[in-house]
Amino acid sequence: MPVYTSDALILRTYKLGEADRIVVFLTKDRGKKRGVAKGARRPRSKFLGALEPLTRAGVAYYERELRDLVRINYVEPQRSPLANVGRAGQDASALGHAEYFAELIDEWAPEAHVDERLYRLGASVIDAIADGAPIAPLARYFEFWLLRLQGVYPTLSACPECAGAFDGGAVMPAREHHFVCRRCAPPAGGTEVSIDALKFLRGAAGAAPGALDAVALDPAAARELETVHRRLMNLHLEKELKSARVLREIARPSFDIGSERREGRST
Ligand SMILES: [Zn+2]
Repeated sequence: MPVYTSDALILRTYKLGEADRIVVFLTKDRGKKRGVAKGARRPRSKFLGALEPLTRAGVAYYERELRDLVRINYVEPQRSPLANVGRAGQDASALGHAEYFAELIDEWAPEAHVDERLYRLGASVIDAIADGAPIAPLARYFEFWLLRLQGVYPTLSACPECAGAFDGGAVMPAREHHFVCRRCAPPAGGTEVSIDALKFLRGAAGAAPGALDAVALDPAAARELETVHRRLMNLHLEKELKSARVLREIARPSFDIGSERREGRST
């Protein structure tokens, strides 16, 4: 049985049998894998605390002939979203966001297909969370880069209708998934993206996630990007992720169901 060791990101786990877990993880050099962590649900398991979504870890595993599931030998955590739990000033939603990022990577990483850029994006984001980076700009950064790596982020260089600059901000029209300038925006409007939000995206295009402090994002601009990114994610995934829904419910307890439905139809 060949043994492999690799840097990896833990994406999610499922219960298996009485005491085991199936672990989905993205390796740096051999793509996404599924493996069995024997006894992971026992109280003194060696996997304890090592399988949180988005944990960056060294993973050793055996591949078994003619089996899709590998056998996980050990998981040695390097950075964990649990690192900052309870620390003063840490955003309480950091764990929920770590799960959201891991779920997005899982959705977008094909089985056994090496995608080192996706791995590096996830690894740098977990480092930023463990270092206590502000979570809202980090989330918008992650979504922006994930969509860019998949080649589906709409162009920001010029308005596709008139070739003019986005000098007054941009609009994503309802039922469409590209940006137009304000002059070309349809009378019905769409999701507004302010100059501040565009500035953040331009900064994010050239910044590492750990350096996001230098790229400003005020709460209003963050909400614009959250809406635009959700529309793009829902279009390309053809569904809304459970973790994304949970985060939104936590953030907006009084969120109006009616406006949600109207917006949902426009995607
Ligand atoms: Zn235009």
